[in-house]
Amino acid sequence: MSNEELWQAVLAQLQFQISPANFATWLKNTYILSKRDGQLLISVPNNFSKEWLENKYNKLIFHLIRGIDSEIRELQYTVGAPAQPKQPPARPAPSVSADSQLELEELKVDRSTNLNSKYTFDAFVVGPFNELAHAASLAICKSPGCVYNPFFVYGGVGLGKTHLLQAIGTQIGKDFPEKRIRYMSSERFTTGVVSAIRNHTMDNFRSLYRDLDILIIDDIQFLAGKDKTQEELFHTFNVLYERGKQIIFSSDRPPKSIPALEERLRSRFEGGMIADISNPDFESRLAILKTKIAEHGMTLPDDICDYVAAHIQRNIRELEGALNRLFASYRLNKKMPTLQEARALLHSVIQNPNKVVSHKKIIQMVAEFYDLKEKELCALSRKKEVVRPRQIAMYLLREELKNSYPLIGKRFGGKDHTTAIYACEKIGKELQESEILLDEINLIKQRIYSG
Ligand code: ADP
Ligand code: MG
Repeated sequence: MSNEELWQAVLAQLQFQISPANFATWLKNTYILSKRDGQLLISVPNNFSKEWLENKYNKLIFHLIRGIDSEIRELQYTVGAPAQPKQPPARPAPSVSADSQLELEELKVDRSTNLNSKYTFDAFVVGPFNELAHAASLAICKSPGCVYNPFFVYGGVGLGKTHLLQAIGTQIGKDFPEKRIRYMSSERFTTGVVSAIRNHTMDNFRSLYRDLDILIIDDIQFLAGKDKTQEELFHTFNVLYERGKQIIFSSDRPPKSIPALEERLRSRFEGGMIADISNPDFESRLAILKTKIAEHGMTLPDDICDYVAAHIQRNIRELEGALNRLFASYRLNKKMPTLQEARALLHSVIQNPNKVVSHKKIIQMVAEFYDLKEKELCALSRKKEVVRPRQIAMYLLREELKNSYPLIGKRFGGKDHTTAIYACEKIGKELQESEILLDEINLIKQRIYSG
C-alpha cells in the first residue's frame, strides 16, 4: 500500500468520526511525507493544523493507522510544503486523493441552501426504527408548510437525522424550484446571531431568515442556555409560521428534555409534529449495510454482512466506519477479508462483544422465565398470565435494544405501537415502586446476557 493509499484509508475512516467542518479545517492538504522505522511523518499545511492534530486527534489517527498498518509506532507532524506533488496515477485509482475528495465534498454543498446533495431519499433506508419520521418527511415534501409544521425529529447520534433533514430540503428544492430553502446547524445560527449583534446588522440577519420558505435547523439541543439566540429563533419562528412557511428541527432528545430551553420555544416545538428515530433493528442494519456496499460498487460475503449487522448495533455511522475498515483492508491486500480476519479488523469497533443480544433471545428468556411458550408470548392472547410477561418483554426490547414502538408491536403479533408504548410506560413506572418486579427483571437480564 502506498503512503497515499494508507493516508486515504485513514481519512476515509476519520471523516466518520469527526464533524465535516473539523475534517475540512484540520485535514485539508495533509499527506504522509515519509514512513521509516515505524515512524510516520505527516505533512500539515500550517501550525494550527499541527497543534490540533497533535493535541486532539493524534490518538484517534494513531489508532486508525494501527488498524491498517500495525508496524507503525509513532506519528509526527511537520509543517510542510503547501501542496503535495501529485504523480499521475499509474492505473485508475480505486480511491480519489484526500484533496480531491475534500473538494468533491465541498462541491456537493450548495452555497445558497447549505444542502449536501449526497443526502437523498433514495439513499435513505427505511425500517421500523425510522418509518414514522420518514413518512412525515415525505408528506412535508409534498406540501411544505401545510402538514406537520413545525416538524421536529429527534434521536441519538448517527441515526440519520441530518440525512433526513437534508433529504427533505433537497427534495423540496427539486419539486419546488422557486422556494427559498436554507439548512443550517444550530451552531451556525448562533454564530449568525452573535455576529449580527456585534456588527449591528440585525436587520439584515432577520430579513435573510424571514424571507425563507423552508428553514431547517439541525441539532437544536445546542441552543440550550443561549438566551439571545433562542429569542431570535422564537421571533423568526413566529414570522415564518404565520406566513405558512415550513420549519424543521432536529435534536438528540425530545423538546421536553432539552435543558434551559425557553418555555415558549418548547411549546412551539411541541405544537407541531414530533417523530423519533430509534436504533435500527438487525434487519434494518443489514439493509443499510447492503445499500452502502452497493453504493461503493463493492460486494461483501453474506457471513461478514451478518456479522457486522449483528455486532454493530449502536448507530449507522459506526456501520459505515466498519465498512470503510473492511474496504481499506481490501485495498491493502487486494482481496476481501475472511470472516475471521473481519472479526479481528473490527475488534476495536465492537464493544462488549458478550453484551450482544437479539430480540429473539429476549423473548426466549422472558418466556422461559415465566414458563410460557414463545408462541404464547407473541400471540394476541389477552390471558392474564401472558399479558404481564409480554409487557415485560416489550419493556426489555425497548430498554436493551432501543427497538422502536412500531417494531415492538410487530414482534408481538402485530400489535399497535400504542400498546407497546403503554406496556413500556407501565412497566417502567412499576419498576420504581416494586422491588419484586425489579428483581424479576434483573434476573431475566442476567439470563439474557449470560446465556
Ligand atoms: P445524525 O445526524 O442523526 O447524527 P447522520 O444523518 O449524520 O446522523 O447519519 C450518519 C450516517 O449514517 C450518514 O452517513 C448517513 O448517510 C447514514 N445514514 C443514517 N441513516 C441512514 C439510513 N436510514 N439509510 C442509509 N444511511 C443512513
Ligand atoms: Mg446530525
